[in-house]
Amino acid sequence: MEIYVARSAGFCYGVKRAINLAKKTLEKNKVDCFTLGPIIHNPSVVKELEEQGLKVVNAVTDVRKGILVIRSHGISKEEKDYLDKNGKEILLVDATCPFVEKALVKLEILKKEGYEIFYLGDKNHPEVKGLLSYINNQAIVFERPEDIPEKKYKKVGLISQTTQKPEVFKRSVEKLLPLCEELRVFNTICQTTTVRQREAKELAKKVDVMIVLGGKMSANTKKLAEICKEELENTYHVETVKDLKKRWFKGVKKVGITAGASTPKEHIKEVIEFLEN
Ligand code: SF4
Repeated sequence: MEIYVARSAGFCYGVKRAINLAKKTLEKNKVDCFTLGPIIHNPSVVKELEEQGLKVVNAVTDVRKGILVIRSHGISKEEKDYLDKNGKEILLVDATCPFVEKALVKLEILKKEGYEIFYLGDKNHPEVKGLLSYINNQAIVFERPEDIPEKKYKKVGLISQTTQKPEVFKRSVEKLLPLCEELRVFNTICQTTTVRQREAKELAKKVDVMIVLGGKMSANTKKLAEICKEELENTYHVETVKDLKKRWFKGVKKVGITAGASTPKEHIKEVIEFLEN
């Protein structure tokens, strides 16, 4: 069996940075360390860090004192305000991804300059919820260009969640353009997402079975699985090697592997070993 692994599979820059910051914080400090929600969307990595002492809390109000690591998605305005006011005994370690911070700057520009904001993304994703809180949720969030209401607009600003598909973003521009007097577009899809999706698509075209490795809650992994499935029916989204079934590979000659931004290299290695044995 031939096994191909996408070059970009595994941790992205933002996730690597968040995990390194969390690990260094745990090593250097003896006080309680927390993250607001799981640090990344990968249960086994979260468990490993929990064993080293990183506790996951669901609300900022759950932390009285200690260190709070802000994950790559960032935090909401309400959470930030709460910490500014009540967090005198809480030290913040900010692992917000710079690409997410950049998207916030663009959003604030659009808001300040009076654009009606259209936001391509999942309204329940922490990155989207967090960013929109800084503009009082004054944006129309949509997941499919078909959902953009067909009417005339004056000044529209279009922006995207960092992990969306560039092709869907492009279709959103095409949908909005004839409807607006003015359209301002900020492409806030992060470069690593674009490259990862392109490579996954290419790989899915040339193999018989495609494995997409990563958390079921991970937005970027779900998008990868969707993209591969469009090219190849035999695409399987699994969280770890334990989810693989021998029967998927019976008589198969070529297997492709890609992995979401929150998937450690060791998990990819385990899948390769499974396939080789
Ligand atoms: S996928 Fe992109 S935006 Fe999200 S954490 Fe990784 S590098 Fe940052």
